[in-house]
Amino acid sequence: MDIPESRRARTVVPLRRTDAAEMAPTAETFAALQTAFDHLNTHLFGGDLPNALVTLTRRGRSPGCFRAGSFERADGVVADEITMTPARFRDRPPAEPLAQLAHDMVHLWQRAFGTPGRGGYHNREWAAKMVSIGLQPTATSEPGGKATGERMGQMLIPGGAFADAVAALLDMGFTIPWAAREKALPRAGEGADDDEPAVPKSGRWFKYVCPACGAIARAKHGASLVCGDDYVVMDMEP
Ligand SMILES: [Zn+2]
Ligand SMILES: [Zn+2]
Repeated sequence: MDIPESRRARTVVPLRRTDAAEMAPTAETFAALQTAFDHLNTHLFGGDLPNALVTLTRRGRSPGCFRAGSFERADGVVADEITMTPARFRDRPPAEPLAQLAHDMVHLWQRAFGTPGRGGYHNREWAAKMVSIGLQPTATSEPGGKATGERMGQMLIPGGAFADAVAALLDMGFTIPWAAREKALPRAGEGADDDEPAVPKSGRWFKYVCPACGAIARAKHGASLVCGDDYVVMDMEP
């Protein structure tokens, strides 16, 4: 039987006894993400952004996700959430996940200081702020793509503030130390379009999942579904 690549057992590397003393994956990961957030906040947003809670997901196909006010501390303080995809920390320049983090920080900036689009729509204000911090929004993840839309990728503007900020961060030896081990994702896959599975698409039903509440729906390939509870675009799963 032909087992799809994604279902095959992955190579399991045995843990050495010494590993326990040498590694702190949770602390190392979130220290790096906080460092990146602080650095981008200082250099691109004047240090004005409130901290968000950065979460990681292995589900869904979108490279990142911003949710307004989705966490609350026991004393009632509310925080926004930025979800990152650790499979995308692997085998690609750190500037790519950092650009996605900056993308979601622009959503946070809009919530604090601007006018967010409905349902997470990337509106003109969002696009203008992206350009001002040195990232060119593009719906196709390629040059010349539309600068507004439901799902957006971005390209680094050479000589822009983001490029400078990331260069300075990398000069300090910054890395995101841990990446999810799983099947390779397309390298240029910041947009939805290049994530499509290599199977016939017509006539098949695909599973869509709300990244916020996990609600499931089924629809044809390429459908654009929005969760009625969360007003976010649902992710198509392979
Ligand atoms: Zn976005
Ligand atoms: Zn939902």
